[in-house]
Amino acid sequence: MFGHHTGRAATVPGAPAGQSPDVNDVWDLVVVGGGPAGAAAALRAAQLRPDGRILLLDKADFPRDKACGDGIAAHGRDELALLGLPGLLDDYRPTSRLTVVAPGGTRVSATAARPNHVVPRTVFDARLVEAARARGVEVRRHRVRALAATGPHVVIDGCLTARAVVAADGANSAVRRLIGLPASADRHTAIAVRGYSDVAASDDVQLIAMQKEGWPAYAWSFPIGDGTANVGFGMLLPRLRATGLPGREVLHGRLARLLPDQPARDLRAHHLPLSSGRPKAGAGRVMLAGDAASLINPLTGEGIYYALLSGRLAGEAAVQAADDPLPAYLRKLRAALGSHLRTTDVLARLAQSPGFIDAAIGTAARREEMFDVLVDVGLGAGLVPLPIALAVGRRWLRDAFT
Ligand SMILES: Cc1cc2nc3c(=O)[nH]c(=O)nc-3n(C[C@H](O)[C@H](O)[C@H](O)COP(=O)(O)OP(=O)(O)OC[C@H]3O[C@@H](n4cnc5c(N)ncnc54)[C@H](O)[C@@H]3O)c2cc1C
Repeated sequence: MFGHHTGRAATVPGAPAGQSPDVNDVWDLVVVGGGPAGAAAALRAAQLRPDGRILLLDKADFPRDKACGDGIAAHGRDELALLGLPGLLDDYRPTSRLTVVAPGGTRVSATAARPNHVVPRTVFDARLVEAARARGVEVRRHRVRALAATGPHVVIDGCLTARAVVAADGANSAVRRLIGLPASADRHTAIAVRGYSDVAASDDVQLIAMQKEGWPAYAWSFPIGDGTANVGFGMLLPRLRATGLPGREVLHGRLARLLPDQPARDLRAHHLPLSSGRPKAGAGRVMLAGDAASLINPLTGEGIYYALLSGRLAGEAAVQAADDPLPAYLRKLRAALGSHLRTTDVLARLAQSPGFIDAAIGTAARREEMFDVLVDVGLGAGLVPLPIALAVGRRWLRDAFT
């Protein structure tokens, strides 16, 4: 239930000097992290409960950069519409054109059923946070370092009291650690570097070039529409470690080799915790969303859609089940993503073999509906229909024995 606790202010040991939690001043929801997951949680809670007291904390001021491919799939735009922001990206050019190069070299160019957008995260995230502020969410710059459960409340850094917390503090989530959940294991973590390069303003083809060496690994070029493209390269962390070389050398070197005509500036790398190693998405009154919950597609590295979706569901649970939000959140998450996540768990294991991906992309080259399945599974909440699974399996076996 929303409403405000009345009672004597309590003092919590460890509170920063001069500050103590005031239980007269209880936030209905405190969101830690103002990326897509956190902004979606705050936006949804404020949408459902305009009189709710919602606080969004981020260690950075916005606009801030975030290492990312900046690719926002149509599924992400559906989430923006649910959050009441259907036109948030309207000034960015949509593109449906995709070219995928399989590890074995097969190249497939196709038009996706629905367009994607490429929007620099400095712009996208700042717009989301601004929309949350406009909806009545209080936004503060604050790095969260400590958390304590006290009865029906969570006390943050000894000075902020919340009925519910959404931890959306990204791949290296401090809150996840503070509630006793370990970081993602290396085998379920990828690392990627991104930069920006000049391209023709008319270039609107999103390129994904997979690489056999150190597989799974791929480079991308995602033109924005303003004469620049987001370019990058990513691979699994254990494969990077196995090279024995400094990470920068490997990531920057392979990006330059795979996209030789697109020298990149503003290079910045970050970890991607993949959903194949996801934890239970919370504890007590704390719900994990987005990268903090390891909700990144293990096949593509896409995480913005899952961040928006999980953040929205966590924001919903915080207001609709305020007495005990976590079970409600877990139910919603399971209903929205359970089958999809189980599908990508299996596919991620199969995709350890580049031959499987070659077969999938080879099948997509011949069957248009297969391309849309790949897009839905790689960028959305899609599943693999049985006839498609059988077609890929047959091709994989055939390729293996010829
Ligand atoms: C190189 C690269 C390329 C990628 N490309 C794509 C792509 O093209 N498309 C796609 O969909 N996904 C992509 N991803 C994944 C995507 O970037 C993430 O899944 C997405 O950013 C997750 O959003 P989030 O809100 O969970 O976390 P983040 O966007 O990381 O936001 C977390 C926020 O928490 C704040 N924070 C952290 N710690 C604290 C703290 N202790 N206290 C307060 N605030 C804190 C941070 O400042 C940050 O603002 C890519 C990832 C990488 C690394």
